[in-house]
Amino acid sequence: MYTIAAAAAYQSANRVISSAGSSNADLGARSEVEQLKGRIERQNLLIQTMLMILLEKKVLHEDEFKEWLNYVDELDGVRDGKLREDKKPLACSQCGRNSPKGSAKCIYCGSEFETDFLYQRPQE
Ligand SMILES: [Zn+2]
Repeated sequence: MYTIAAAAAYQSANRVISSAGSSNADLGARSEVEQLKGRIERQNLLIQTMLMILLEKKVLHEDEFKEWLNYVDELDGVRDGKLREDKKPLACSQCGRNSPKGSAKCIYCGSEFETDFLYQRPQE
């Protein structure tokens, strides 16, 4: 008797678990996670390829790369092994309107945004 009740509870728990992940919102969230996972894996491939080329062709030594890595890591203000994305839109110095983060040019007047930090070398 006890075993039958336990088996029924086990089955209904399984029903709850298997139906829990099938709402539309959940499916949407899951496919978004899958897309993000795919993007991260693609970025991993690109970064790994670039790094291997740089090291293999002796463009840069591994220690030099690590120095750069630390330098770039600190550009967002925190040395934490991550580079936080700046969510702020870019304000155009010519027309004053905002373009989405990451734009190379103002989407309104076409004026180019400065990419100052890209060309700074680490302090000697
Ligand atoms: Zn502009």
